[in-house]
Amino acid sequence: MKFETKAIRLGHTPDPKSRAVIPPIHQGTTFQFTAVGENTGYEYSRTSNPTRVLLEECLAGLEGGEFGIAFGSGMAATDAVLAMLKPGDEVVSARNLYGGTLRLFESIYTPRNVKFVYIDGGGPEAWRAAVTKRTKMLWLETPTNPQLQVFDIAAIAEVAHQAGVPLLVDNTFASPYIQRPLALGADIVLHSTSKYINGHNDVIGGAVITSDPQVEEAVRFFQNTAGAVPGPWDCYLTLRGIKTLALRMRQHNANALAVARFLEGHEMVDHVYYPGLEGHPQHELAKRQMDGSGGMVTFHLAGGLEQVNAFVGALSVFHFAESLGGAESLVCHPASMSHAVLSDEERAHAGIRENMIRLSVGLEHVDDLIADLEQALHAARQSRQAVRAGG
Ligand SMILES: *Cc1c(COP(=O)(O)O)cnc(C)c1O
Repeated sequence: MKFETKAIRLGHTPDPKSRAVIPPIHQGTTFQFTAVGENTGYEYSRTSNPTRVLLEECLAGLEGGEFGIAFGSGMAATDAVLAMLKPGDEVVSARNLYGGTLRLFESIYTPRNVKFVYIDGGGPEAWRAAVTKRTKMLWLETPTNPQLQVFDIAAIAEVAHQAGVPLLVDNTFASPYIQRPLALGADIVLHSTSKYINGHNDVIGGAVITSDPQVEEAVRFFQNTAGAVPGPWDCYLTLRGIKTLALRMRQHNANALAVARFLEGHEMVDHVYYPGLEGHPQHELAKRQMDGSGGMVTFHLAGGLEQVNAFVGALSVFHFAESLGGAESLVCHPASMSHAVLSDEERAHAGIRENMIRLSVGLEHVDDLIADLEQALHAARQSRQAVRAGG
């Protein structure tokens, strides 16, 4: 089955009683036993719920994995994977990470004596050099947030396997339509389904996908034991969103590429980060590893905070809001929003300057998006001239 078909059919068996094409939402918390120790496989909805199972099967299939384990948020999924680690264990991770992931590493797991060793960039050699006898996992996001740096999943998976440890890839920014890390050799895929997978800015959720039975067992055990499960209604909404994932991602790809090209040529823009641009340092790798470059575009505005304020204030189609991956185009100021949890020093180290702007290019008509950006860049230019005129 091709991706588009899987997205619509996986796990979707019609209800056996009514033959309803759309499976019912199982809101119930408890299921009848038929005799002592005998039931349908369902007993209590924290442990397992039919609507959640449907979502888990669908996500596993889209990523090409055996098992999907759904959570109430991307962070809950992240925590479930980290819970496999013990004091003294080490994780080698890319430094450019979702701010909340870094916060979980640093403020929850570091005090519990799990050590995180960060890689700034470069090829697989940097990863190999950081691995020690205590390394238990390699961890990366690609493309990264917010600089959209692309890591070579296959090459880093090889380093992980030589060391006998799994590679985890947070595939949130790409989505399984654009990139399938398990096929490239990764062992665990992590998602915030709040982003492209649900795709409508209306559900918080997360998932872990793997074909490794030991990882599945540990993460599934944690899911039931710690209990950060998604509700059936949220699972249903996410499944509904998934049906159009392929269509949406193709449009995100096209809109973002057009926006990136527009920004690249604009005098109020200093630098554009987008893997689909020929000038991106990992453009060739991105072409090999991804089907399209996704919907995220980051750039430096010419100017400072004053110009950023004028820019975001003038936008009318883009919403000035956190998050990404939905139909609505969003603009984010990483220094004060997605990466505000970092210290000034960490932010400087991560290269997040105050004139950096991150766009989640949505599904509106691209002409409207570019017109909106154009008039907001004009407002930013005028704010600079006003400052100069005012001396
Ligand atoms: C949003 C996000 C997360 C966290 O997911 P939540 O659903 O917000 O808990 C993790 N990783 C990446 C890359 C994200 O964008």
